[in-house]
Amino acid sequence: MNWFESYESEIRVYARSYPAVFVKGQNAIQTDENGKEYIDFYAGAGVLNFGHNHPKLKAAIMDYIQNDGVLHSLDMMTAAKREFIKGFVETILQPRKMDYKLQFMGPTGSNAVEAALKLARRVTGRSNVVAFSQGFHGMTLGALACTANEVFRNAAGVPLTMVSHWPFESNQGGGLESLDTLRALYENTSSGVEKPAAFIVEVIQAEGGVNVASAEWLQALQTLARDLGALLIVDDIQAGCGRTGQYFSFENMGIDPDIVTLAKGIGGLGTPMAMNLVKAEHDQHWKPGEHTGTFRGQNISFVAGREALRFFEDDDLMSQTRAKGKIMQHHLQRIADLYSAKGFCVRGKGMMQALDVNDGALAKAVARDCFDNGMLFGPCGVGGQVIKLIPPLTIPEDQLQAGLVILEQAIQRQLGAGS
Ligand code: PMP
Repeated sequence: MNWFESYESEIRVYARSYPAVFVKGQNAIQTDENGKEYIDFYAGAGVLNFGHNHPKLKAAIMDYIQNDGVLHSLDMMTAAKREFIKGFVETILQPRKMDYKLQFMGPTGSNAVEAALKLARRVTGRSNVVAFSQGFHGMTLGALACTANEVFRNAAGVPLTMVSHWPFESNQGGGLESLDTLRALYENTSSGVEKPAAFIVEVIQAEGGVNVASAEWLQALQTLARDLGALLIVDDIQAGCGRTGQYFSFENMGIDPDIVTLAKGIGGLGTPMAMNLVKAEHDQHWKPGEHTGTFRGQNISFVAGREALRFFEDDDLMSQTRAKGKIMQHHLQRIADLYSAKGFCVRGKGMMQALDVNDGALAKAVARDCFDNGMLFGPCGVGGQVIKLIPPLTIPEDQLQAGLVILEQAIQRQLGAGS
């Protein structure tokens, strides 16, 4: 009996692409119930930055449970939460001279985005939000209205309103000039376009195809937002928590977002948590309990998340991330050069690297070939034509190299099969 096919909803997606039953995860290796090992270049869609079952994070959780630490606490004060807050402020915010309030909510990225949108609308008294083409911000209605992909949008069943989409920097019609066009529209009192509550942007569009915004464009976006009295929301749910070789994807880019949404990696061990960083002047607009969430007090996530912050007490992991990112980038560039007639393109930052193969069917066939040969990744972008690689930041270099070789061979096989 296949219990999944028989009883689990048709909504399954990864279960179809990776038809194996997984039983074990150790750092970058996932093992199925037949004992076959896979090198994980997907890491829970960017959740497992510190690998599967990192021993230190695991020990912290086991110790906490062993001592009957309170597991669930809504937003009551717990020692575990205090340690997390203190660790985040001291390790991440203070060294960067960043000043934010920390808002916890239900432990999904979508919920963090919902909270950010509500607050921006509250602060400005405006309804409309600007999001960008190929952006991904979540599946609940408010966040989904900001998500660009039509497959997801079509599932909404209701009109997705109060969000306008504008070309992302790297899309046709995007770039600095297009921000000028937007400015002209907003500044013209007879353009028929109302000023927005916020601009929401991913510095690196992860699901949208690993499209990287430049510092110049982001700065111009921030200036536009400020001039219009709108908030700048950076969605760092997938690109944050060290993925790019810095804690935040926007570091050293000369921007100072009003709200930063975080989720995925923040809970450390894959333990769910979401958190918004909110400027105090905006945060004061919340009334107590206006955006709740039963699971906003996940103490095992606070415990593992606090332990994970220790990776950022020095530059070891981040310098390794930058170095391994370069290995990935060089290898992908080599593949692109090998098939130069195909016009493949390499994009990314740190350990979010991608090969755009211009062909969704090819990317899908390559993903299946990699799965068969013991490597997991997820295609993304328009039509699924982008091979996105986001292994744990802690992946040993030999496994990183081995996974890249599996990918290269899969591409070679699939291009051979297609020709
Ligand atoms: N924003 C970004 C940038 C994301 O990548 C995702 C998840 N892929 C989300 C929001 C939504 O997060 P979740 O699936 O946890 O709701």
